[in-house]
Amino acid sequence: MFEGLEEICKVYRVDSYAFDETPKAVAPKAEEFVVVKPENALEVSKILKFANERRIPVFIRGGGTGLSGGAVPTRKGILISTEKMRGIEIDVENKVAICQCGVTLEELSKTAEKHGLSFPPRPGAENATVGGMIATNAGGVRALKFGVMRNYVLGIEAVLPNGEIIKLGGKTLKNSSGYSLLHLIIGSEGTLAVITKAIIRLLPPIKDISMLAIPFITTEDALNFAIEASLHTVPMALEFMDKRAVEIGEKVSGKKWVSKEGEAHIMAIFERKDEAEEVAEIALKFNPIDVFILSPKEQRDLLEFRGKLYLGLKDKVIEILDVCIPPGEIAEYLQKSEELAKNYGIELITYGHLGDGNLHQHPLLYEDWEKSYKKFRKELLKLAIELGGVISGEHGIGVLKREELRESYPEQFRLMQEIKKIFDPNGILNPDRIF
Ligand SMILES: Cc1cc2nc3c(=O)[nH]c(=O)nc-3n(C[C@H](O)[C@H](O)[C@H](O)COP(=O)(O)OP(=O)(O)OC[C@H]3O[C@@H](n4cnc5c(N)ncnc54)[C@H](O)[C@@H]3O)c2cc1C
Repeated sequence: MFEGLEEICKVYRVDSYAFDETPKAVAPKAEEFVVVKPENALEVSKILKFANERRIPVFIRGGGTGLSGGAVPTRKGILISTEKMRGIEIDVENKVAICQCGVTLEELSKTAEKHGLSFPPRPGAENATVGGMIATNAGGVRALKFGVMRNYVLGIEAVLPNGEIIKLGGKTLKNSSGYSLLHLIIGSEGTLAVITKAIIRLLPPIKDISMLAIPFITTEDALNFAIEASLHTVPMALEFMDKRAVEIGEKVSGKKWVSKEGEAHIMAIFERKDEAEEVAEIALKFNPIDVFILSPKEQRDLLEFRGKLYLGLKDKVIEILDVCIPPGEIAEYLQKSEELAKNYGIELITYGHLGDGNLHQHPLLYEDWEKSYKKFRKELLKLAIELGGVISGEHGIGVLKREELRESYPEQFRLMQEIKKIFDPNGILNPDRIF
């Protein structure tokens, strides 16, 4: 099947690429695969032409930090790893980074900083790549104020499944020139093209941050506070954790949260001290246990605490649910989803980006979970949609939520299938994702 591929590029076997960061219980199983590590669009083009002519499935792996099984080669085929595509240059005057797709979030942020600029979005995994973040339209804790990946991609170089190299967008901030194919590629999870390069918008640096930690006795008070605070200012981040998430965070990070009491805990980050002070005053009206204004050391500790939460949960959970709910409906969603979980005897641990409604609910593994979990999950995602939400806010559909996507949005799904056929008539690129 792979005969002749060696003549185009070196072929590797890398067993660890059979996995990404998706929890084991729901992670897809990898089939036999070989790995190639192209260095530029031309090499990607040759690989895709080779595969397309022979109808060989091709998969794409960036940092492998995805949580929807997207980087796992689920059919016998070729896995393109973008790890050697690490070139990055900064155009200071135009405030953009021109990156190859394998540049990591950490490399992008640090390089921007060296040039006196910043890349504000902060998806949680530093080794996620520019290609992977664009393909999943990644978000993160700062999406509330700074938006998601889509808001930073001005241009793309990509390779179509037939090997054609295309360039979309450029360095301009505005573009109303026909259909935005650029935005079609963003969030397409590698099903339409391999992104090889991107022009990423940068902003002036974020100078100081101020942080609050606020434990509340009831979830209701915490949610009412969040709504009131949002009428006055837009924090950089407004994060929520339930009691169990706090316990796990303390265990895995070795750092102490500000209080052991309380059902609901808020962490809020601001660009300006006066914003933090205003929000601290607002919080006092909603019966907090206390309002903590954090010192720089406490800020570092609690950011580490928050950053390690997933590590503490990874082996205990079935998966990470990733719904996004309109802020005004979050209270109803949380209450009804807890009731639903109780009916199924499921324990949910919830934390997430409260400010933008993107909640990460983690159902804990239980005996014989395979028998009832699927039904629970369907009902839960249905509830999210009924309340005006979506089934994935930032992790993507991948291989995990295809059925729910098809059932929830039949018309959109049909159009997506037709678009897929135009880009990839032989269905070789990232099969089993989205569709
Ligand atoms: C601890 C932790 C915290 C996280 N926090 C966040 C968060 O806050 N916000 C968030 O949005 N996500 C978060 N994630 C999920 C993950 O980091 C993102 O989905 C990220 O965008 C994936 O990037 P990656 O390079 O690792 O992609 P991969 O996992 O390698 O791939 C993801 C998908 O993108 C496709 N792909 C990769 N590169 C390309 C390319 N060059 N061209 C076309 N398709 C490509 C893959 O085929 C796959 O379908 C977190 C994950 C972890 C482990």
